Amino acid sequence: MPSIRHLTILGSTGSIGVSTLDVVTRHPNRFQIIALTANHSIEKMLEQCRLFRPRYAVMLDKGSGEKLQMAIREAGIATEVMWGVESLEKVASLPEVDTVMAAIVGAAGIRPTFAAARAGKNVLLANKETLVMAGRIFMDVVKQHHATLLPIDSEHNAIFQSLPHHFTGDLAAVGVRRILLTASGGPFRQSSLASLEQVTPEQACAHPNWVMGKKISVDSATMMNKGLEVIEAHWLFNAAPEKIQVVIHPQSVIHSMVEYVDGSVLAQLGNPDMRTPIAHALGLPDRIETEVASLDMFKIGRLNFEAPDFKRFPCLGLAYQALAAGGSTPAILNAANEVAVESFLKRRMPFTAIPIMIEQVMQSVSRKDIASLEDVLEADREARETAHDWLSSLV
Ligand code: NAD
Ligand code: MG
Repeated sequence: MPSIRHLTILGSTGSIGVSTLDVVTRHPNRFQIIALTANHSIEKMLEQCRLFRPRYAVMLDKGSGEKLQMAIREAGIATEVMWGVESLEKVASLPEVDTVMAAIVGAAGIRPTFAAARAGKNVLLANKETLVMAGRIFMDVVKQHHATLLPIDSEHNAIFQSLPHHFTGDLAAVGVRRILLTASGGPFRQSSLASLEQVTPEQACAHPNWVMGKKISVDSATMMNKGLEVIEAHWLFNAAPEKIQVVIHPQSVIHSMVEYVDGSVLAQLGNPDMRTPIAHALGLPDRIETEVASLDMFKIGRLNFEAPDFKRFPCLGLAYQALAAGGSTPAILNAANEVAVESFLKRRMPFTAIPIMIEQVMQSVSRKDIASLEDVLEADREARETAHDWLSSLV
């Protein structure tokens, strides 16, 4: 039997968190949950504590923490309840934890994800925003503290699976010509530019293939998600931007590909279900069972491919620009995007204003060099302020 893995799941009540717990449930002899964390979904957290009996549960704010604490006591559960960002950092770096699933959404995930890397953990990275905002310094921290970084994002997990085991950061050395990063194209793949003006949050969140949290669903609809993933791939695999080709593949069956200098293209395929990449990373080096159905090739019938349209989806181009600019620019892009997505979800601005706001913020906030996490957080703060100012100027 393999030795038991001791887990902290950051963002356990979200889409990735729930899928992780689903995989864990099937393998009680492999995994033990030490800590779970959430923003403020008390009911979901209470239920998870009932089922998984973690040693710690962390809520973001004191109010939610105190309410959960009361409910946990009443239910007679021994879980210790904590709250605040410091507590998130604490459970990400506990000595008794070896593996941390980083599945908080957005910039809010950066501090605990850094804490896990600094503590040398096995970091399962779903929170792509950490790499977008702070790619260089995050990769340095991973190296310095001998952490292990495993990609959960389905595309990056597919690339990881299609690279040779001895890959250590030099694509040319293992004969890679380029990376083909697949994208579903989102719910508006075939919509005209004019029709995008009227799009509602409900339409934007109705992804054709994946069921995900709201923020990443809107990112998929604008294709910012693919832009963020280009930046993510750049840092994870040390890939120059021109070596990353985005390929629209509406069926989301091929999760990404690696092309080698001999002309071979290796791909990872599967049903679009995040439990596959999660199980891959949790089980490594073993393959472990999930309830993901077999891929029915006859039902799928055909696989299609298209080039991305930068005109209808300007967010993709903005992400490439941010990657080329470097320094604090990707953090500025990310912050502006988070404010824009939130404002769109609250119906404070139209879908098509998302790239406009991001571009404005990228132009207004000046690029700085990044030497530390503090520098990143400062750029994030400044960009958010500028985005909010821009939004206020609209009304
Ligand atoms: P989600 O919104 O479903 O869940 C987010 C989780 O983070 C929840 O547990 C929530 O309580 C917690 N959270 C939110 N704000 C927080 C804050 N300020 N402080 C602390 N905790 C907070 O999101 P998701 O879809 O599970 O995505 C999580 C991450 O994984 C994102 O970075 C996303 O880009 C990435 N990802 C998701 C998918 C997917 O299929 N859902 C696929 C690839 C990558
Ligand atoms: Mg993805």
